Amino acid sequence: MDIRKRAAEVVRRLKKSYPDPRTCLVYSSPFELLVATVLSAQSTDAHVNKVTTGLFRKYRKIEDYATVPLAELQKDLSSVNFYNNKAKNIQNAARMILTEFEGRVPESMSELTRLPGVARKTANIILYDAFGKAEGIAVDTHVIRLSNLLGFTTHSDPVKIERDLMAIVAKKDWGRFSHLLVLHGRAVCPARRPRHEECVLRDICPAGSALQRN
Ligand code: SF4
Repeated sequence: MDIRKRAAEVVRRLKKSYPDPRTCLVYSSPFELLVATVLSAQSTDAHVNKVTTGLFRKYRKIEDYATVPLAELQKDLSSVNFYNNKAKNIQNAARMILTEFEGRVPESMSELTRLPGVARKTANIILYDAFGKAEGIAVDTHVIRLSNLLGFTTHSDPVKIERDLMAIVAKKDWGRFSHLLVLHGRAVCPARRPRHEECVLRDICPAGSALQRN
């Protein structure tokens, strides 16, 4: 099957398995999603959700993050990996949003990636989950792994993988594509023991077919 048709078929089948693909991060505004996504690097969504429960109760507005003493924000985030840098980035992003974007999280890739701590992956998640827009495909560890297993890329560099995926996945599916792979990676295809026999993609996944033959 042609690679674009196979990508469309992967999306069609995974949409049936995961009808509402969204981030597992809990948030109630675009800025809270930005905070949660920045915190989630090198951390689990479950831990981030635990931390943000109290954080979002204490910090209600973007101004709160912009004006709190940095040491206090760092203390509030101290159970998260790399909290010193993450707190600095969150505070500087809040200040930039207030001074350059009239207090609103911007809605384009070029503006989002100007914010401290926001690279393409974070920007893609914010664009899709907060604004229903897609300018690319968020590439995290699950997407790196599954894209290789599915034969959609041979790269390990997220930028190259995103470029490969954007060439074969229909633009209307860019936003949901990474969520579908993340959900499938967690549910059926974890790194240690992919459950090929239960997988709805087994007949169109080169890795699954090869492993089944052995
Ligand atoms: S067939 Fe196996 S390797 Fe391929 S996506 Fe499914 S579980 Fe993962």
